[in-house]
Amino acid sequence: MYIVMITPECAPAAKVGGLADVVYGLCHELEIRGNTVEIILPKYDCMRYDHIYGLHIVYNDLWVPFYEHWVHCSVFFGFVHGRSCFFIEPHSEKNFFHRGILYGHGDDPERFAFFCRASLEFMLKANKHPDIIHCHDWQTGLVPVLLFDMYRNYGMTHPRVCYTLHNLGHQGVTGESILRAVGLNRPDYYLHPDRLRDDFNPSAVNLMKAGIVYSNFVTTVSPSYAGEIQHSHLSYGLGHTLFIHGQKFGGVLNGIDYDVWNPEIDPHIPYRYGIDTIGDKYGDKEALRHRLLLQQVYKPIVSYIGRLDHQKGVGLIRDAIFYCLSHGCQFVLLGSSTNQGINNDFLNLKHHLNNDPDCHLEIGFDEELSHLIYAGSDMMIVPSLFEPCGLTQMIAMKYGTVPVVRATGGLLDTVFDANYSHRPYHERNGYVFNDFNYKGIESALQRAIGMWYSYPQHFRELMVNGMRYDFSWNHPGQHYQNIYEYIRDK
Ligand code: ADP
Repeated sequence: MYIVMITPECAPAAKVGGLADVVYGLCHELEIRGNTVEIILPKYDCMRYDHIYGLHIVYNDLWVPFYEHWVHCSVFFGFVHGRSCFFIEPHSEKNFFHRGILYGHGDDPERFAFFCRASLEFMLKANKHPDIIHCHDWQTGLVPVLLFDMYRNYGMTHPRVCYTLHNLGHQGVTGESILRAVGLNRPDYYLHPDRLRDDFNPSAVNLMKAGIVYSNFVTTVSPSYAGEIQHSHLSYGLGHTLFIHGQKFGGVLNGIDYDVWNPEIDPHIPYRYGIDTIGDKYGDKEALRHRLLLQQVYKPIVSYIGRLDHQKGVGLIRDAIFYCLSHGCQFVLLGSSTNQGINNDFLNLKHHLNNDPDCHLEIGFDEELSHLIYAGSDMMIVPSLFEPCGLTQMIAMKYGTVPVVRATGGLLDTVFDANYSHRPYHERNGYVFNDFNYKGIESALQRAIGMWYSYPQHFRELMVNGMRYDFSWNHPGQHYQNIYEYIRDK
């Protein structure tokens, strides 16, 4: 099959969070299965250009209609660790993708609406007629609308669209002028509750809803989250739409790419190890301490890697830091936020804990350091308010690091409590708490830390159980292949 991904992120070149890893890993798997896969991305100024090979212009005169004007664009091609990627660069005074960050601007809906129109215009001009267009999150929600209501009339009759919801906390709710911007010139038609009208704000367009309504199939990133967003407040208003379109909706658990996340071959860690050589993990623990100037003592290292966002439980992360430091642990954090207030809170905390030889907070984004933290830690916390899938707990387990997580979304589908799970002992792989408050996380940490100190042999079994799980793209890759074939043949 011929598949085109239209996406705002692809690891490691343009990455904010898990969406980037998912696009990269899924494309890799689909290629292994014999498909032809191409990826279309914005050409951000702040990409990791050192991860893009052979970047060159392939199309110099793409003209994209936007409002009453035509925007001149160049299209580049390059390989991101073997994946074929096209990058669209608009030349306009608005500098849509020259902003120093991927997201966080007031005109984000406009920036990505432009990206949707430009992607389709590029495909039309380049004569690309894939079997499947796979879009991701609100940023690309207008693609199926434009394809089926506009570009079909220009001859793009072949492609079917699969749309993946990575996080319903961000839906792209914006004014109706966005419709005119991309050439959908019937606002009354589109602002109908069965189409793009936001369910909370009758004068607003909901770009994620657009993707759900117009795509041939909709997935989200774990079975538990699929249930939660159909039946609870975690849908943030899209539950009714998902209910109506329930026949074409399902949850597919994300995978992780074991060519990237694998302690046996990881080039970013000084000691490589697997289940049979798990003792070598302690070399990485020492290296992590050395790198972050932590003291070498007999204590477990508890860590957090991720966006610093209310969704991720920033209050509980803060609480966990103090709990761990006062209960015989070291703590390492690697994270950043698009919210300056949250960033400042953690920078102040870092300042406060500066002289503590058991703690290091790294406020920023550092892909290479993250590998060493996964390898060098004993436990990793994921205390999310909600978590569509979550990759950090799966990566942690591959590195023999025991996850301590809240019972929500994909965390429920991947982490099984050492004490309370109904699964057999050899399938238990971490610690799970229910209540989203400090008592919840502290009780789970207490059990985990107690096990590490008092029953090291049992703790090691948990580590090995986690390492044995297969969270690769093998199964989800087959699921997506089935979905693509189903909508192609329908
Ligand atoms: P989300 O998609 O909600 O951000 P996930 O758990 O699905 O969360 O994916 C997070 C991904 O981003 C993981 O690969 C994680 O290692 C990475 N990551 C998050 N924050 C950072 C950071 N500050 N530095 C390096 N990697 C990070």
